Amino acid sequence: MRLKSLLLSLILPVLMSTNFATQAGKPPFTADLIIINARIHTMDQGQPLAEAVAISGNRIIAVGTTKEIEKLAGDKKRTRIVDAKGQLVLPGFNDAHVHFMSGGFQLSSVDLRNASSQPEFAERIRAFADKLPPGRWITGGDWDHERWPDAKLPTKELIDRFTPNTPVFVNRLDGHMALANSLALKLANVTRQTLDPPGGIIVRDPKTGEPTGVLKDAAQSFVWKVFPTPSFEEKLAAARAATNHAASVGVTSVQDMSAGTDVGVYQALLDRGELKNRIYAVWPLPRWERLAQTGVRAHFGSPMLRTGGLKGFADGSLGSTTALFYAPYEDAPGTSGIPSDEMFPEGVMLERVRGADRAGLQVIIHAIGDRANDLILSIYEQVENENGDRDRRFRIEHAQHLRAQDISRFARDHVIASMQPYHAIDDGRWAEKRIGHERAKTTYAFRSLLDSGATLAFGTDWTVAPLDPMLSIYAAVTRRTLDGKHPGGWIPEQKISVEEAVRAYTVGSAFAEFQEKEKGTILPGKFADLVILSRDIFKIDPKEIEKAKVVTTIMDGRVVYEVK
Ligand SMILES: [Zn+2]
Repeated sequence: MRLKSLLLSLILPVLMSTNFATQAGKPPFTADLIIINARIHTMDQGQPLAEAVAISGNRIIAVGTTKEIEKLAGDKKRTRIVDAKGQLVLPGFNDAHVHFMSGGFQLSSVDLRNASSQPEFAERIRAFADKLPPGRWITGGDWDHERWPDAKLPTKELIDRFTPNTPVFVNRLDGHMALANSLALKLANVTRQTLDPPGGIIVRDPKTGEPTGVLKDAAQSFVWKVFPTPSFEEKLAAARAATNHAASVGVTSVQDMSAGTDVGVYQALLDRGELKNRIYAVWPLPRWERLAQTGVRAHFGSPMLRTGGLKGFADGSLGSTTALFYAPYEDAPGTSGIPSDEMFPEGVMLERVRGADRAGLQVIIHAIGDRANDLILSIYEQVENENGDRDRRFRIEHAQHLRAQDISRFARDHVIASMQPYHAIDDGRWAEKRIGHERAKTTYAFRSLLDSGATLAFGTDWTVAPLDPMLSIYAAVTRRTLDGKHPGGWIPEQKISVEEAVRAYTVGSAFAEFQEKEKGTILPGKFADLVILSRDIFKIDPKEIEKAKVVTTIMDGRVVYEVK
């Protein structure tokens, strides 16, 4: 009796939803897929733990004990039963900040991320160029000079002799600078005479004034202007590689910060039944009027593919010394960073945010340095005052270095802090030489932000960081830097719990895209997006979390990845 009423209370809301009602002919109490004998962390505070879950179509229909849920199985043909054998089940991960197409292209480009010296960097480019027909570009790479013995920026001379006929434009892993070889500079017509553009820097030889090949932030667009646009088929292949990779690491939703006009590529993949994760496709803020003119508001679209968000930039990055601070850099006292070109002319950012918000679109802005964060928080405050109360969910992407007095503004102003914990253990290796210990204390301030009541949404900024959520959870919980120099955690007072990290990666990121009613928890009525993990990350030593693997990914009720 008790069981029956429990099941009814779980199932009835689903029966009443149109989604279920349209599945004509199916007996309503039979599941298509059930997972039993699991340790389910639902991320719902009302019912945090469960053993089993039943899925019908693309929705979760019941959550409970193995005994209860087994009753929903039909015959073998009808219902697939997955015995999790005590393994951990979590809601599918929702990466709140990715660059999905670059991720896809990256998967098929030269890999410079782990190159540990300039010679190794050059050698990898040589080997890759050898396999290409003349004229074909090499891009991507994700190099990191901070890994190299003297942390010096690379120069075009390193690679020119291997690449006389191959234009090269490989970026640092943060995307805020890239190295062009001489051929790429020539095609882009960048010479000693070329002036730095607003929001960008052409790095030059101090003696000769000759460009070294490194172009920072807006200066990169000189080369991108002459870069041949990939064909639709090439883009489709990249998106396919990206979605397959996402499925393999348990990411069932992504929020693509640079989707722009790639929505059609994703739609093609969706039409072909090949899309394995949901996508929130974000449009560039400077072009907000084009989106507003269509009448689209945030958040618009289908559960698989939605739009209505706008991404802007307030500054650069810490690694490229272009993040905008109040005080100068410790290791470059001549600069305190530069505002992004989108901040010029003065006042234009405020104007854009005001207009886009009035049009009902969601505004999402990248801010890394403390000054950039303050500027954007102030713009958000002013626009909220002018445009009045509304469920607008302004976001700051990265929110990386905050002044202590700015932390509470996120909760007070309902600004979502969309952060990438992996950056903390990556930048943590060298951040203090750049900004000093005092400023570092309120850097990646997960603990302080949560304590102040802010909503955290987690992600990776893939391809800046690897897409695997286990690495990010490990980073948020341990803060152990990649070089092993902070075994107890870098700025350990900003660590958070596994529960809090998973919540930010599921519930938090769903909220950040207006989808908390549809996903982010394992509850009846929610989309059937979930993962089974090889280890119980709530129980193991936090140091081991990075080794946990996804063994099964279910998205929209379908098994999209499975270790056999
Ligand atoms: Zn990004």
